[in-house]
Formats: sequence, C-alpha cells, structure tokens
Amino acid sequence: MSKLVSKWNYPTTVRFGAGRISELPDALAATGIKKPLFVTDPGLAKLPVVASTLKILDDAKIPYGVFSDVKPNPVESNLTAGIAAFKAGKHDGVIAFGGGSALDLGKLIAFQAGQTRPVWDFEDIGDWWTRADADAIAPIIAVPTTAGTGSEVGRAGVVTHEATHTKKVIFHPKMLPAIVIADPELTTGMPPFITAGTGMDAFAHCLEAYCAPGYHPMADGIAVEGMRLVLENLPKAYANGKDLTARAHMMSAAAMGATAFQKGLGAIHSMSHPIGALYDTHHGMTNAVFMPYVLAFNREAIEDRIVRLTGYLGIKGGFDGFAKSVLKLRKELKVPHTLPELIKGLDMDKKRKTLIADMAVVDPTAGGNPVKLTKKAASTLLDNAIEGTL
Ligand code: NAD
Repeated sequence: MSKLVSKWNYPTTVRFGAGRISELPDALAATGIKKPLFVTDPGLAKLPVVASTLKILDDAKIPYGVFSDVKPNPVESNLTAGIAAFKAGKHDGVIAFGGGSALDLGKLIAFQAGQTRPVWDFEDIGDWWTRADADAIAPIIAVPTTAGTGSEVGRAGVVTHEATHTKKVIFHPKMLPAIVIADPELTTGMPPFITAGTGMDAFAHCLEAYCAPGYHPMADGIAVEGMRLVLENLPKAYANGKDLTARAHMMSAAAMGATAFQKGLGAIHSMSHPIGALYDTHHGMTNAVFMPYVLAFNREAIEDRIVRLTGYLGIKGGFDGFAKSVLKLRKELKVPHTLPELIKGLDMDKKRKTLIADMAVVDPTAGGNPVKLTKKAASTLLDNAIEGTL
C-alpha cells in the first residue's frame, strides 16, 4: 500500500491515499472554508466512518454543521432542505461526504444556495450553465466513501424532479470540487451489494465513454485503464472488503470513469435512469443489469474498438470474449441477470414500458450511444432485460 499515495491536479486536486482523511482541516484551510456544512446520507451518518471524520474537525476546533437528509437517489426536497441548513448555519462551503448521492447533493447545495433562478434552469442542456452566478458558488471539498460514480471529480450533480419522476443532471464547471480527499480506507465498510453496484458503475462509465463516438483520445486512454483496474480489482474488493489495495485501485477507477465520461455515455445509462427514477433502484447495479444487452445491441458499431480493447486487457476471443468476461464478472458479483431479479415483484404493463422507452430516448445520455437509440430499440432493450434475452 505504501506506493499507493499520490497528489494529482487532474482533473482537480486529488489527495489520494489511505489515511489522508486526516488532512481534512488542511484542505479546508487551503480552500478558505471556515465553517463547512458536512453533507452525508442518513445511513452513513450512523457509521463510525462519519464519527471519526467529525472527530478530526472537532480536534481541529473547526465549527461545522451536519446535514444528512439525503435519499439514495436525491430529490428536490432534499436540496431545498440542504440549502435552508446551509443558510441557517451561515456556512461558507461544503464537505460532501459519501457515495454519489451525498456527493451530488453536497455539490448542488454549494452551487444552488447563492442562485436566484430555480435549479432546473441549470440543467445540462446547451449553455444553460452560463445563466448561473458563478461568484455565488460556495467551495466544495469532496470525500467519496464508495468507488463508483466518480462524482467527486465531476462538474455535475444528479437530482430527481419529483413531479415528473425524472433524473435531471445539473451542470456547472464550478461544481467541480476544489479538493478531493480520496482515502480508500473510507470505503472498506461498504457491504458487498454496494461494492458490486458501485464498481460496476465505474466500469459502465469507462465502457460507455470508450464506445461513445467522437474524438477524445485522452478520455479513451483513461477509460481503457479504468476498465483494467475494475476487471482486476472489483472481484477482490467484493470478496474481501478489507483488501485496501483493491479498494484503492477501485477508487482510482471510479474517478477515471467520471473523468472519461465527459466524452459521452450511452444506452446503459439511458435505460437505467428511468428505472432508477421510477423504481428507486441502485444506479450502478441497474447499469450492471443492462450492460450485456446494450453491448449486444451496439455490437456492429463498436466491434473494432472492443477488439482493440481486448488486446490491452488480455482477453481472448475478440468481441465475444469481452462479452463473456462481462457476464462472468456480473456472475461473480451476483448481479441480477434480469430486471425482475433486480426489482422483486416487477410487473410492467404496456403503458409503463412505453413510458420507460419514451424517457430513455430523451435522456441526455442517449445521444452518446454509438447506435441511435430509437423508441423501438429502447423497447426491445427493455424487453430483453426483462426476459434475459441476449
Ligand atoms: P449512494 O451514494 O446512493 O449510497 C448507497 C448506499 O451505500 C447508501 O445507503 C450509503 O449509506 C451506503 N454507503 C456509502 N458509503 C458507504 C461506506 N463506506 N460504508 C457503508 N455504507 C456506505 O450510492 P452511489 O452508487 O455511490 O451513488 C449513486 C448516486 O450517484 C445516484 O443518485 C446517481 O444518480 C448518482 N450519480 C452521479 C454521477 C455524477 O456524475 N454526478 C454519476 C453516477 C451516478
């Protein structure tokens, strides 16, 4: 482990390494935050990992507030309550501490607290982000406790619009945290289901970014190495949550996935977002369910790229060999093969299926899929994931 310590300034400053959470007071000083709001989720708030982190702040005599009213897929009312807590406590920055849900909500609180327009005006569409008052955005320190979303190095936050049950991506370049503390020790308490789901999320980010059309060799390079790290380390982290080396490599892979996906995502996410919004499923696990069906659907457009990838990953058998590796990884991690296995008692009528297909094709990630995601294609992908047809 001693070699797995580093400081990166790409894509933001990342203090990487086991035990580096102790540098939180120093990170606050470096960003000029004097009275942070510590944003986490209610499950984590009860765990020792939060108590020991707050003790670091107490020992350094740093005044802070705690906000933990964050749902697993955060909703608008969480954001409203978080902004109220930020203002009531007269906070000047945010420590976003947790998985993607707490990280996203913490980032969104820091972003939105000083804005006058509704948050939906800053959806990731065209240049809508320029509507925001950039000077009113509070600084953010991000501390991931899962290894999946990579939200700690991202410039967006996802929040569910409760009235329409749609997940909206809110974007602003200044939502990128000023400092990330990536301490793999914080992830050792993740239960296997969350380890598997979050790790597969990182894999989905790398895979979809790599397959998205467009010229972005930097993203491609990062995605390829990210996939290697997941294939070699996720089974180890899943089998032994205390394997700090595997946890460290997964933490890197997560940040790499989110760095790479500025190139684009694709139909895995387009299908997974409506399912997550309507059934409140775990984001990464839902991606993992859809992955092989979308791979098969995109085959014609991505076969050459995937064959090139297999050379680096040391996988034999070209595209089929890669598809088999994905299925093997899913099996090892006990990822459900079908949607009814993921969502117990699932019974979708035609109207519901049409709604999901309609939502998938307008999802912002649909444009990055290498094959056009039509309503017909989205319906077929949904049926395949329900029936387990590859
Ligand atoms: P999560 O944040 O929803 O957390 C899942 C569960 O794991 C929670 O119950 C939490 O308490 C628990 N948990 C977290 N860390 C733990 C630890 N160290 N030990 C024990 N339990 C722990 O899960 P996630 O997959 O990290 O995030 C999913 C969210 O991220 C979704 O809302 C999704 O929309 C969003 N997301 C955002 C981006 C982005 O770029 N901003 C990308 C992908 C996903």
